[in-house]
Amino acid sequence: MPEYPEMEAWRRQLGEPVSAFPVAKAGPAHIATLKTFDPPLSALEGRRFRGVERRGKRLLFPTDDGELVLLVHLMTSGRLKTLRAGDKGPKVPAFALEFAGGSKLVLTENARRKRAGVWLLTPEAAKEELAHLGPEAAEIDAPALAAILRSDGRRLHSLLRDQRAIAGIGRAWANEILHEAKLSPYALSTELDDAEVERLRAAIGSELARGLELREHGAGDERTYRVHDKLGQPCDVCETPIAQVDFEEHTIYYCPECQTGGRVLKDRRMSRLLR
Ligand SMILES: [Zn+2]
Repeated sequence: MPEYPEMEAWRRQLGEPVSAFPVAKAGPAHIATLKTFDPPLSALEGRRFRGVERRGKRLLFPTDDGELVLLVHLMTSGRLKTLRAGDKGPKVPAFALEFAGGSKLVLTENARRKRAGVWLLTPEAAKEELAHLGPEAAEIDAPALAAILRSDGRRLHSLLRDQRAIAGIGRAWANEILHEAKLSPYALSTELDDAEVERLRAAIGSELARGLELREHGAGDERTYRVHDKLGQPCDVCETPIAQVDFEEHTIYYCPECQTGGRVLKDRRMSRLLR
């Protein structure tokens, strides 16, 4: 799933192409992708976007007259693509915008269950839609992070992914951040000491910045991640093979040497079923 580094790289890349010309044709949109019907999508036609903003993992395209906001959430498998006039696009996009002059922005989703979403909202409704999100991960400081960690005893991997607590981190970057911070994915948020909180804050900042830099230069997953999806490959710090464990709906990747004092984490889904 695209997280802060991927979405922020997209935001920077899309600003110019989506604001260069007004929208000539809004749609088509897959029935499962378009989440709103009022205002109708056609209300975008003739309007120009002011640029692209991002909140957590969502992109926002406000119109320059201040009346509408198009909100896009790619979820797990949605992808955005810009097409120049005359470029061949996907036959059945989940959502498409055509600009005056013929360039396009298309959203595709190569999955049986369509989960990516597009909302056309007033600025007030957009604000409401985003109100539940926690502070931006890349901007969080140590006191704010400490307050979030101590407000509720949660396992770190789960807490980092919770968009209501901190916005922008998902399972891949939670793996990368915890590895960089040398913290166990299962560590309880309320049990971190001050030095560990500071290490976690520093790792959130440096890992998201590293990810953004790589994604802006077009790096793929293999080059971008150091632990995520790297089962059995040597840890780049200590060369211990990266381990994995299933937790909630996710697979966590971690280094047993760097992060858990040599302990192998138990699959908590299984132990819950057996209890
Ligand atoms: Zn290691």
